[in-house]
Amino acid sequence: MLKKHIPVACAILLACTVAQAQDQILNIYSARHYPTDEALYTNFTKTTGIKINRVDADDAGILARLKAEGSASPADVILLVDAARLWKGEVEGLFQPVKSQLLDNTIPGQLRGKVTADGASPWFGFSTRARVIVYNKVKVQKDDVDTYEELGDPKNRGKLCIRSGSHPYNLSLFGAVLEHLGEQKTEAWLKGMVDNMARGPKGGDTDQIKGVAAGECAIAVTNSYYLARIMRSDKPEDKAIMDRVGVVFPNQASWGTHVNIAGGAVARNAKNPANAIKFLEYLASPSAQDHFANGNNEWPVTKGLKISNPALQAMTGGSFKSETIPISVVGMNQVKVQQMLDRVGFK
Ligand code: FE
Repeated sequence: MLKKHIPVACAILLACTVAQAQDQILNIYSARHYPTDEALYTNFTKTTGIKINRVDADDAGILARLKAEGSASPADVILLVDAARLWKGEVEGLFQPVKSQLLDNTIPGQLRGKVTADGASPWFGFSTRARVIVYNKVKVQKDDVDTYEELGDPKNRGKLCIRSGSHPYNLSLFGAVLEHLGEQKTEAWLKGMVDNMARGPKGGDTDQIKGVAAGECAIAVTNSYYLARIMRSDKPEDKAIMDRVGVVFPNQASWGTHVNIAGGAVARNAKNPANAIKFLEYLASPSAQDHFANGNNEWPVTKGLKISNPALQAMTGGSFKSETIPISVVGMNQVKVQQMLDRVGFK
């Protein structure tokens, strides 16, 4: 056998080289679907020498894949774009809690999963996005849409465009509203939205904004970064959209605008856990946080970062009041919300 002829020192060296090569790899399963993120990954590899292999899928697809792969899964880091899905990954035991002084110091407590007795957290939110209301500036008064509650008010009959109720972004918004309003009011509100729809739910958030601009509807719901993308675009068709569309950060006078997160976790069966933690810590670094704000129009979660993104400045006037519930609540409320959607016929 060839092995026997390798001198001991060389065999050790070989083992070292192989181990070293393995150490320099990080396997990421990512639901972040933003082309500007390439810079985020490239910069990590440049500063650490760790090569990233990435599998892109949506939140549900990633969780299903992790489950199916079990202990054989090569995934080290999981990136998801919805708090309820992160919560689901946590309760299904797909993540391993991480203890990191740096993450403890930088990530606010309400943007983390359930902390273990020894202070480790199963996941962390690294950026936030507001779920905002857009409206046709000619057809709608801002005052008539400055709360989520008004989306279900009879005065807005026939005006609403919104993507599927079962999409994670909406399930999380509705789960947050359930937390704020209670079951009865939330179900009546969902029914009100069904009554107010200009058309059946279809398409993504950007399609809803376009629906308002095209006059198909007068009010819509979108994540803030989709709107910011249009606001920052030089294309004439996007400029035409912004001529017609206004934005409202709902519930500024009450519990604040619903804010969801994009977040990350270390996979339960990570083969490169040290690199995985290094990557999560990198996501909390000023350069990555700046990337979230300026590259993908999200809000950073770390304090003290100056945001120079003109679209974020323009849509908020500098700052806004966001809700302060522990974000994992939206996960816990999801089954109830889905049952309500089924009862009121919100597709
Ligand atoms: Fe998205």
